[in-house]
Amino acid sequence: MNTTADKLTTPDTPGGANIPSTTGTTNAPSSTGLADSAEEQTTGIVFNIQRFSVHDGPGIRTTVFLKGCPLRCAWCSNPEGLTGAPQLMYMRGNCAGCLKCIEACPNHAASLTENGRAVDPSLCESCGMCAKECYFDALKMEGAIMTVPELMKELRKDANHYRRSDGGITLSGGEALTQLSFCAELFKACHAEGWHTAVETTAYIDRDSLDKVLPHLDLVLMDIKHADSAKHKEYTGVPNKRILQNARYIAEYGGPKLVIRTPVIPGFNDTAEEILAICAVAQSLPGVDTIHLLPFHRMGRNKYEHMQYDYRMEGVGPLTQEKASELHAVVRDNTQLVCKIGG
Ligand code: SF4
Ligand code: SF4
Repeated sequence: MNTTADKLTTPDTPGGANIPSTTGTTNAPSSTGLADSAEEQTTGIVFNIQRFSVHDGPGIRTTVFLKGCPLRCAWCSNPEGLTGAPQLMYMRGNCAGCLKCIEACPNHAASLTENGRAVDPSLCESCGMCAKECYFDALKMEGAIMTVPELMKELRKDANHYRRSDGGITLSGGEALTQLSFCAELFKACHAEGWHTAVETTAYIDRDSLDKVLPHLDLVLMDIKHADSAKHKEYTGVPNKRILQNARYIAEYGGPKLVIRTPVIPGFNDTAEEILAICAVAQSLPGVDTIHLLPFHRMGRNKYEHMQYDYRMEGVGPLTQEKASELHAVVRDNTQLVCKIGG
């Protein structure tokens, strides 16, 4: 019996009681319609740029994380990517109680309580002025609005590495494709430079949106988290029907290579039967020959605290190496798929 897995509970609301709903996750600015070139007018909200990444596609890559996601997976390790707008993180352990941030707030949204700094969400406009005044690294604004040329300038710093290693750019999140115009323009700009392009996606998007990015992609790293729709919905907030339909659409599109990824979560999908059911879906997709099993870890745990979100994986331990090896052997012995642990 898996005692840690027993503690993974289903939420009252998808994602947990105090995690923002998915409403508004696609409100990232994408186009002002004022500038002359499409590349100049498109903006996105970026919350992390990870250079020298080697797990998100071939070669040396830069992985760019965009905000906004239509899912609320219980195990999400990037909760700062859930909402589609910049937001504050508060590291209470660093706070000196100096009141600088309170004085800096133009909306009088912040106050200091016996439990540390508190913000009235109805007054806070996420302007970030308080974070600029905090000299103790207790406040951090997650999410910077960037144009495509601004991001390209950043990405060009590693252009030599992409060329020498046949690497490139991967967009991740959140669900990067919620910022559709930005993604499409960025992929086009990357291809113009001769760089490989990839996306890590839930594929929980509409068909028209997919059509806008697929021509500019070389690789799609797509999650299939569970083959059973009811259980998928229970732990992610959405059913899997659209995701499975899109998996087939991408596979039959005849463009980018499709690789299936499965985060392996104790108590959710870590049995041989559940992994083989996902493999059966993957094997039915034309051209798909690889599955990545991504073991659950708890590295995002502190971020939940910094964002004052509930952490639903409390009491659930990381997937053990033994369990990961066992599932790897199950896939190897029962399917035609190449199975890799990790990305
Ligand atoms: S982000 Fe802006 S509005 Fe919100 S608490 Fe800080 S200074 Fe005030
Ligand atoms: S400025 Fe920083 S250290 Fe000072 S009270 Fe605000 S959060 Fe705490």
